[in-house]
Amino acid sequence: MIELRTVTKKDVAGKRVLVRVDFNVPLEKSGDAVRVRDDRRLRAALPTIKLLRDAGARIILISHLGRPKDTVVPELSLAPIAQYLREKLDLPVTFSADYDNLPDEPIVLLENLRFYPEESNNDPAFAKRLAKLADIYVNEAFSSAHRKHASIIGIPEFLPSFAGLALTEEAEQLAKLLHKPRRPFIVVLGGAKISDKVGALTNLARIADLVLIGGAIANNFLSAEGFEIYRSFVEEASKKDAGDYVALAKQLIEEHKTEKVLKDNYIPLPKLLYPIDVIAASSLETTSDEELKTIDLSHDMEDKLEKTKLQYLDIGPKTRQLYSELLAGAGTVFWNGPMGVWENPLFAAGTKAIARAITTSRATTVLGGGDTIAAAHHFHAEHQFSYVSAAGGAALKFLGGEVLPGLKPLVIPS
Ligand code: ADP
Ligand code: MG
Repeated sequence: MIELRTVTKKDVAGKRVLVRVDFNVPLEKSGDAVRVRDDRRLRAALPTIKLLRDAGARIILISHLGRPKDTVVPELSLAPIAQYLREKLDLPVTFSADYDNLPDEPIVLLENLRFYPEESNNDPAFAKRLAKLADIYVNEAFSSAHRKHASIIGIPEFLPSFAGLALTEEAEQLAKLLHKPRRPFIVVLGGAKISDKVGALTNLARIADLVLIGGAIANNFLSAEGFEIYRSFVEEASKKDAGDYVALAKQLIEEHKTEKVLKDNYIPLPKLLYPIDVIAASSLETTSDEELKTIDLSHDMEDKLEKTKLQYLDIGPKTRQLYSELLAGAGTVFWNGPMGVWENPLFAAGTKAIARAITTSRATTVLGGGDTIAAAHHFHAEHQFSYVSAAGGAALKFLGGEVLPGLKPLVIPS
């Protein structure tokens, strides 16, 4: 297990400190003004900023915002973020678009790093230019630690580098899942973007005692097992990764076929489970529950013609019950990916039931994934998780067993 060099007051006392934060928050336009729709990422950096202020450090904050594609996009300026920090979070932050002549102020927030192609290209001259502004570098952006960008891997080449408090916490929480989960360890995986989740799914399936699959991802597994899925959504493999996700599902089923878990001490179940029934409709925008069909996959496979228009949009009642019973006995749960199209109340029952089963269990519970967090929030369950990981793709890569490039410079050599 890796150990990170976490920043302490002693390291930064009276120093100039460059802090890579993730202030990539969702924005909303209201008239001419931009508003911060969700400030959780800003708040997440506050403990580290407080530590630095208490140590009398001068603070320079750097971040990206959105995808300006290497050019100046005024709507993606960080200036409104500085204003928000001042007005709503009571932090005396001065904004500067000039990277070289900083205002003589205690906390400065620099303009969006991604206005410069040198950031994504990891240009050493750009990294050096930023490094010159400070004596110490702190990374407080776990969610960007999988990117080989100048502000993540370039600057640490030039400065003594430390891990921020929230970054350290995230790494520790995720590492616990990989190295010492309280058992039984149950992984619940759903959602639509299997391409992002392949690594985590493959690695966690080996570590966990049980894997419960739902959401559109389940369609890959059903298809691999020879079930008809009609018009259900399956993510196309891109040319870039050329993976076929149905084949991957088949391979995972095969790999874990012989491993059985015991339910109620006597019913043996395979380690990797996919839905035994589903809720289907012809469109995810359906508004009438009369159009819904509950399909029991074990025996409702006849009258094919009538079903050709159907999409599977949620796990069914039997699956809900089975998964909930299993989750009740968990020691640790990691959940990523909604069980269905929860944004439509007609297809929300699976996600709601799973959120409830997880949060009412006595397990240590970790929640991840942008849409999954939104769903948990919607069902008032978010605060009942032991830990909520907002690091998205970086967290999934970490759980896939990768040493993230951004963490490498922060690791204490063993
Ligand atoms: P996260 O952001 O939590 O990692 P994803 O982005 O992978 O999750 O997937 C979330 C989306 O998956 C949700 O918005 C939901 O509507 C969609 N989804 C879930 N189940 C299905 C399904 N059976 N068919 C189509 N889309 C689905
Ligand atoms: Mg998503």
